[in-house]
Amino acid sequence: MAYYVREPLEQRPALSSRRPTINKFFLSTYTLTIYHGCEFGCPYCDGWVYDPHGFNRAVRVPTDLPQQLEHELQQISRGDLIAITALSDPYQPAERSYRLTRQVLQVLADAGQPCLIMTKSPLILEDIPLLRRMNQTGLAIVMTTLITTDPTLATRLEGRAPLPALRLDLLARLHHAGIPTGVALVPLIPYVNDSNTSMRRLLHDCQQRGVDFAIWDYLYIPDRQHRHRVAETLAHVGTFPSSYYRDLYGDGVAPHDHYRRERDLDMLRICDDLGLPAFAPHALYAGKLDPRNEATLLLRHSALRSQYLGQQRMADQHHQLADQVYAGGPISPELRQSVLWPQLAPLLDPPAS
Ligand code: SF4
Repeated sequence: MAYYVREPLEQRPALSSRRPTINKFFLSTYTLTIYHGCEFGCPYCDGWVYDPHGFNRAVRVPTDLPQQLEHELQQISRGDLIAITALSDPYQPAERSYRLTRQVLQVLADAGQPCLIMTKSPLILEDIPLLRRMNQTGLAIVMTTLITTDPTLATRLEGRAPLPALRLDLLARLHHAGIPTGVALVPLIPYVNDSNTSMRRLLHDCQQRGVDFAIWDYLYIPDRQHRHRVAETLAHVGTFPSSYYRDLYGDGVAPHDHYRRERDLDMLRICDDLGLPAFAPHALYAGKLDPRNEATLLLRHSALRSQYLGQQRMADQHHQLADQVYAGGPISPELRQSVLWPQLAPLLDPPAS
């Protein structure tokens, strides 16, 4: 049980600064953190890195956040998506008491600002009417993180978070209510939850519940303290050789490239087999974002697919073009020659009416 501390922002910014590149997984240009700290306290969470001791015990509640956000929305484009995804679950238990996330969504709904919300908590189901309203005129995508469907493994890896079955159920109920949904298989932990069998089962279960897309990413270990915390958790899961981290991570923060290349390709193939899009498909956000953001995402997602398939030249070219488009550069000859140009042209160079 965490304790809650009311801590108004007092005019400190609610939104992050505009991202230098669009977030390929969350489609976002800005990030918004609602509560600071997370009672679910998953041991693999990056949030521990910023608050190694109190992360899951003290949750700070910026009570004036909705008002501050309302003020900041006047300065940003309605075509930029805000991701409520960072370092804290917006529907953790504190939300029952403060309803700060609900107030924030109301502000976003009134402004017509697109957003993507990441949560593990079925508490979000109480806000379905609001999410529906947002999707009638704009965009509110909901994602949940799932790293396994095995309740025993889930309890060992993220024991305070809602069980996988509850999260699968929340995805089904959101889909049934007409809310676009995605699943994040984050983090993939080498030799713990990354086998093809378990990932296929998980993605299949999501696809059966109508999930619109999937993303995945790896366990990052940015410092020694985090490594220690992860090692303690893994000790409850199985026995790992003492060279586990050295072999997989070396001195890096992420698993080696060769491991990721292999996993990325397998994950992409599983998604393709199941007919479950990897990354949000364009149809989900078409006409809901700034055309430049849409074009950037089309290029970025194409680049990622090429990268996963080992087509590095195509991947590099589309990453570069995505950067150009996002930065507002002129339409270059390379862009017009891109295989994606037929899709990009109506966004970037629409015929004069
Ligand atoms: S629920 Fe999300 S934000 Fe909260 S601790 Fe777990 S991973 Fe971190």
